[in-house]
Amino acid sequence: MPVYRAPVDDYRFLFHEFLELEKHRDLPHFGELSPDLIDDVLANAAKFCEEVLQPINQSGDEEGCHFENGVVRTPEGFKQAYQAYCEAGWGGLAAPSEFGGAGLPAMITMAVSEMATSSNQSFAMYPGLTSAAYSALIATGAPWMKEHIVPRMISGEWAGTMCLTEPGCGTDLRLMKTRAVEQPDGTYRMNGTKIFISGGDQDLTDNIIHMAIAKIPDENGQIRDDLSTVNFFMVPKFLVKEDGTMGARNGVNTGGIEKKMGIKGQATCVLNFDDAVAWRLGPKPTPGEKKSTSAGMAGMVGMMNAARLGVGVQGIATGEVAYQNALAYVHERRVGRALTGAAEPDKPADLLIVHPDVKRMLLHCRSFVEGARALAMWTTLNMSIARSGRPDSDTAGLISDLMTPVIKAFFTDMGFEAANLAMQCYGGHGYIRDNGVEQFVRDGRINLIYEGANGVQAMDLVGRKLGRKGGAAPLALFQMIVNWIGENDGDALKPFSKPLARGLDTLQQATMWLAQHGLANPNDAGAAASDYLRLMGIVLVGWMWARMARLAQEKLAANPPNAGFYKDKLTAAKYWMERMIPECPMLLERMSAGSATIMEVA
Ligand SMILES: Cc1cc2nc3c(=O)[nH]c(=O)nc-3n(C[C@H](O)[C@H](O)[C@H](O)COP(=O)(O)OP(=O)(O)OC[C@H]3O[C@@H](n4cnc5c(N)ncnc54)[C@H](O)[C@@H]3O)c2cc1C
Repeated sequence: MPVYRAPVDDYRFLFHEFLELEKHRDLPHFGELSPDLIDDVLANAAKFCEEVLQPINQSGDEEGCHFENGVVRTPEGFKQAYQAYCEAGWGGLAAPSEFGGAGLPAMITMAVSEMATSSNQSFAMYPGLTSAAYSALIATGAPWMKEHIVPRMISGEWAGTMCLTEPGCGTDLRLMKTRAVEQPDGTYRMNGTKIFISGGDQDLTDNIIHMAIAKIPDENGQIRDDLSTVNFFMVPKFLVKEDGTMGARNGVNTGGIEKKMGIKGQATCVLNFDDAVAWRLGPKPTPGEKKSTSAGMAGMVGMMNAARLGVGVQGIATGEVAYQNALAYVHERRVGRALTGAAEPDKPADLLIVHPDVKRMLLHCRSFVEGARALAMWTTLNMSIARSGRPDSDTAGLISDLMTPVIKAFFTDMGFEAANLAMQCYGGHGYIRDNGVEQFVRDGRINLIYEGANGVQAMDLVGRKLGRKGGAAPLALFQMIVNWIGENDGDALKPFSKPLARGLDTLQQATMWLAQHGLANPNDAGAAASDYLRLMGIVLVGWMWARMARLAQEKLAANPPNAGFYKDKLTAAKYWMERMIPECPMLLERMSAGSATIMEVA
């Protein structure tokens, strides 16, 4: 049976010692955030995830979802777990209190979401999508929707989805065929097919609020292949009247559920919109107004950016649970002898943990998970600062915007890498289903694809985020790291600040290379994008590790009772510097090869 213990100590370290949330009481939603409150939320979330969600993860994978007579059924136990989830109020943690939420900062939700995903990714996605959907409705919906629909989503009574993908378009939304035609009463009728819709139908809630995009035809009834006609709509499964009462079943019909590689407890649906009543969200474009995207689409993009950070955290969650299981296994399984002589001569063989290559695999997972967690939380803190109007809010906004594709793509790549390494620690037993570790590989694989495939994230970083406002975001970020290195180059920190400086220098060279070559030949930028994103991810996680190493050294100087915790931090930090930073020059060399050979392929 797989095991899972929520990383509560690590989150307490990050919130109280590393980010010192106490010092950010001036930020919105941080005022009431006492250390005791944070610890309470973390401890209760850990208990819920370990005792309720994790025990139905493997069985949910074995059973999967069912689709019979047009009705979707989730695996045994999901319904009860969902009720318990709602009763405990987990769905509304970060939601504003005026709508019935707890109004806590987003980073607390991120922490809980990581725990829920490690415990049971299929389950965690149902409420995860609901919170993305109600956030978008709060941002773009009409007052009656905020009064009657949002609170029911926050409480978990109703769920939400994101409906973008169609058979002919996933990445390229210009090609969308779903159309919505305005009616005399101001509502729209939507027709088309959406595929791969997570939680598109289920038996957990009485209603589902679909957040869908569709094109509005022009005056000739034609739809064009451009984004300016794409608008954002709310389409409930059961109609909701403006006074909040429920109406008839809407024309949203489930065409089926996908048979897929992983997250089998999550219903991935084909949804047919057959004259479905839809409400357009966001301000109506004025006649003659020409924009590259509609105002409603901006709401959709906001929802997707938040969801992308959430998917990055799913990568951490995959790495964490896979690592924990591998760690337990290598302390049970006996194979061979330690290279320097038997560790336990009285036993027929030593434990797997004695082998350097096994330790390497484990440390790779651990240094990724803990370093990435620090970067995710630091970025989420920056998002809160960005919305605060504080003097540092502009810079914080630029940085969190830059970080979004890096976190989405680098963390999901690395989380999947970690799950694979964890499986490797099991040998052949990892390939066998009963042991459970192969489920993490299968479940974690989707994270690299949905919410914008990782290659597309890399293009977003290189093509849009990097150059925005004259490159202000990378300039600000690089300067912060330069300053930190300048202030922390004493002997004790040299093992961290020196490799970090090397990594940063390489990242700056790579950024310059992109600026010089990307405009002259866009294929050079396209061919370099994924390597550049990884390079940036390695350096930024490296910066987090250098900062955590400094903190660990300070703490150890005071001989704390939990010295082992800080010593482990130093080891994981050294691993990142010795084993990950050396990838940087290799990535730059690969980028510098340009696109000629790649583009030679017919
Ligand atoms: C289990 C599951 C759940 C999902 N949940 C949802 C959901 O809830 N809602 C929803 O709307 N969608 C959902 N999706 C759809 C998912 O977001 C899309 O599959 C994804 O965005 C990729 O689109 P596509 O499959 O059409 O691939 P395509 O767009 O055909 O792209 C194929 C590949 O080509 C590459 N590529 C494409 N364009 C570019 C480019 N410009 N530059 C570089 N490389 C490129 C990428 O590597 C990409 O992986 C889900 C999918 C799955 C499998």
